Amino acid sequence: MNKKANNERSERRWRGVAVSEGIAVGRVLRIHSGGLPASVFRATLDDEGQITREVRRFRAAARLSRRQLRALKRRAEKALGVEHAYIFDAHILMLEDSKLLEDVETLIRRERANAEWAVKVVADRLLAVYAEIKDDYLRERSSDIEDVTRRLLFALSGEPYTRLVMRDAVIVAEELLPSAAAELDFEHVRAIASDAGGWTSHTAIIARGVGIPAVVGARDLFRHARTGDEIAVDAVSGEIVLHPSARTIERFHATAMKSGRRTRHGATDIQPAPLHTTDGIEIVLRANVELPAEFPDVRGYGARGIGLYRSEFLLTQRGVMPTEEEQRAAYLEVAGLAGVDGAKIRLFDLGGEKIGAGENDLERNPALGLRAIRFCLRRPDVLRSQARAVLRAAADGHLDIVLPMISDVAEVRRARRIIDEERARLEDEGLACGAVKIGAMIEVPSAVLMAEHLAREVDFFSLGTNDLVQYLLAVDRGNDGVAEWFRTLHPAVLHSIRRALMAAEAAAIPAIVCGEMAATPAYAAILVGLGARDLSMTASSIPRVRQALAKVSAAEVREIARECLDSDTADAAEEVVRIRLGERWPELFLPEFLPAPKREV
Ligand code: PEP
Ligand code: MG
Repeated sequence: MNKKANNERSERRWRGVAVSEGIAVGRVLRIHSGGLPASVFRATLDDEGQITREVRRFRAAARLSRRQLRALKRRAEKALGVEHAYIFDAHILMLEDSKLLEDVETLIRRERANAEWAVKVVADRLLAVYAEIKDDYLRERSSDIEDVTRRLLFALSGEPYTRLVMRDAVIVAEELLPSAAAELDFEHVRAIASDAGGWTSHTAIIARGVGIPAVVGARDLFRHARTGDEIAVDAVSGEIVLHPSARTIERFHATAMKSGRRTRHGATDIQPAPLHTTDGIEIVLRANVELPAEFPDVRGYGARGIGLYRSEFLLTQRGVMPTEEEQRAAYLEVAGLAGVDGAKIRLFDLGGEKIGAGENDLERNPALGLRAIRFCLRRPDVLRSQARAVLRAAADGHLDIVLPMISDVAEVRRARRIIDEERARLEDEGLACGAVKIGAMIEVPSAVLMAEHLAREVDFFSLGTNDLVQYLLAVDRGNDGVAEWFRTLHPAVLHSIRRALMAAEAAAIPAIVCGEMAATPAYAAILVGLGARDLSMTASSIPRVRQALAKVSAAEVREIARECLDSDTADAAEEVVRIRLGERWPELFLPEFLPAPKREV
């Protein structure tokens, strides 16, 4: 859309929760949760030759898509009968519709845009028209448009093509799933805005991880935004403006100048120096890693290895499982990055709000469904190939395995048996394996209550405070509508953390706290007060947490944590933290890093 047409649209505003600081103005790139291939980038074509080639490429993709659909139709007719194959007719018709094909070609020519971008823009416009239709049946046909668009984009992505990534993309999604994030080139993304999400949702974790401004909880932004629309995002105040006027853009730029630009890769390979509290207690700070875009930060911010590698980010948007060889290569790279301090590879934490694990797409309650270890045990083929890949990579690096969402000791035993079997098989095959420790995520209430037993079965604990809060307080971590109930300092959460840490200590096994809680200086201090000595977080948070912990005394924060444990409400515990930490170390715990004052729910 050209600038003039854009400016004629009136501004629309949303207010969400700023979860990764920064300000950006750019163009919307809508990412549908149902999945789109990676190549939806805006490329500018230089000359007529490129434009002609692009139109030809688009026509070839349309032809391929039609051929695929006809083949699918024939197969469906054979398997299900002619009456059930009609669904493909609608899709084939759409791809034969000369108006749709013409619109895409016109856009390629007029805007000198690549075919992927043109397809996406035309489809989004069509979807906007369908969204307004009163007739329910017709309105629901919009899913056919989404399907055909996806097919076309996949067909286009099959060809080698130099992608000039649009430099000012603002990702707009209902929720940015790991699978979609894995396929984006974050070097060129300016900001992320999503309808759903809270501080610990994956959109937020990804944004902070790659250092991109993000506002979540914008409710119905996705429905109103179209790919190519101009958009301004203020991830300090939480304001989002669609079709911003020239004055608004100026205001956003001025605020951005005033607040200063974040320098993400400002730090260069810091040696991970030991960190001690003022009374000499050593604290280890590690990095949580999801995407290769975060790799430079691990060394850059001086992490002591990788405390949590969220391996599910290896899956693509197409839901394709990486092969054993692909995984081995990925884990080797992670091991190389982590060095002697090693990396904890978490088995695929699929399902829940993260990714369609195929079978559980239609679950009524995915957070309580076939997720994480349950998925791994249900699909031993997937678990076996992942275990083999880690074991083999561990021959050349320091790697351990973390089992996600453990709720019963039996799950640990079953997983361990499978991993041991694969080790024996690899040895029979003459392939080298490394020593790999097995840890359990403690993030479900039953795991806390069984922590003493679990501690005897595993080599280390990994405390996932994001899910622990979610499951303990029964509050969806990705639903901004209930964000007020997501209380990290709820005494029940603190008691659970304390119990898990004590169980680990009694069994003489390490415990790493790797939820988002560890990345907030005030909460990190409370964690140390509860007995945590090993924290893992988004790498860019390490300097801030390091700075705070180096100036507190473990004995004093233990006293403060004790008062929190004695509190009878989340409000009371937050008040203790605000007053005691704020008064004792006012220079460290600035008001913005402390829990917000008591509010009425
Ligand atoms: C957690 O639950 O705290 C955690 C570290 O894992 P994730 O955020 O990936 O669920
Ligand atoms: Mg978790």
